[in-house]
Amino acid sequence: MLSIGIDIGGTKLAAGVVDPSGQIIDRIDRPAPVSSAAAAEKEIVDVVTELSARHAVGAVGIGAAGWVDAEQTTIRFSPHLAWRDEPIAQRLSERLPMPVIVDNDANVAAWAEYRHGAGQEAEAMVLITLGTGIGGALVLAGQVYRGAWGMAGEWGHTTLVPQGHWCACGNRGCWEMYASGHALVRDAGELLATGSPQAAALADAVAQHGLTGPLVTQLAAQGDQTSRELLAEVGTWLGLGLANLAAGLDPDVFVIGGGVSAAGDLLLDPAREAFARYLPGRGFRPLVPIRLAGLGVDAGLIGAADLASRAAKGRRPVFRAYWTRSLLRRENGKVARRERQPRTPRTPSA
Ligand SMILES: [Zn+2]
Repeated sequence: MLSIGIDIGGTKLAAGVVDPSGQIIDRIDRPAPVSSAAAAEKEIVDVVTELSARHAVGAVGIGAAGWVDAEQTTIRFSPHLAWRDEPIAQRLSERLPMPVIVDNDANVAAWAEYRHGAGQEAEAMVLITLGTGIGGALVLAGQVYRGAWGMAGEWGHTTLVPQGHWCACGNRGCWEMYASGHALVRDAGELLATGSPQAAALADAVAQHGLTGPLVTQLAAQGDQTSRELLAEVGTWLGLGLANLAAGLDPDVFVIGGGVSAAGDLLLDPAREAFARYLPGRGFRPLVPIRLAGLGVDAGLIGAADLASRAAKGRRPVFRAYWTRSLLRRENGKVARRERQPRTPRTPSA
């Protein structure tokens, strides 16, 4: 079955028709309709109508930044779009001739990496999206784990440095204040403010282009030692935070996506080093692979389409139901005991 995935963010809307192997066979890209909830809804109906006129499509999945309920129907809050307690899936289902689901942008990206990217076959896959901040999601035993209130995966706001830098979440010393694009730019700015001769090349480039994360990454890739050190600092904080996550979750893979991950091994090698240094019980457990995400910017679109396709087949990700089945399967003794219990004979109904 073909399905449509829509990735809607603060600046753009990307919609694509995705086949069961995760390939995008047709797509439409437009500016994000940020003015109102009605404008966003109309834009989604328009792109779905256009794409489904060209392909036989069975379901629509939407990935959006924000808090989405576990039933994949309502966006509680979206920072970029005008959606507040919006039952968006139901409203769109009334206007479109196919089922619609909505999910958090990190959840859909994680699902795509698990199904078709760097986290295939993982039992517990942690996705970290490194952008301005840190986003993330957890795919656990073949399901996106959403938490009790749909807010799981906000790794970026775990406190790493008590009394550290203030964060927009209201706390100090959050992980994302140290391992993110924001941290890279802040640290580079602090170094430049010292007038250090070590930062002369960086200062020249910043004078021409302005200070951005991608500029520091570009200079690092060209061999500028100071820019490499700035990226390595972010990578080291990344690795320390991953060691904390490994202590709690014991995953079999970390997948790193988001804009900052474009730095590749300039970021990930220091992260791997710090991870190996801070992993609790190191030496007596495997070092969890830290991989780059495989699907790039289209992960959200692909994951949303795949989750929609599964929901349309009646495989909604109700975690509790899976968990019960899984426990029964694993505790074979209990299953066997239950099976041995005599069945109540049923009287055939007339
Ligand atoms: Zn925070």
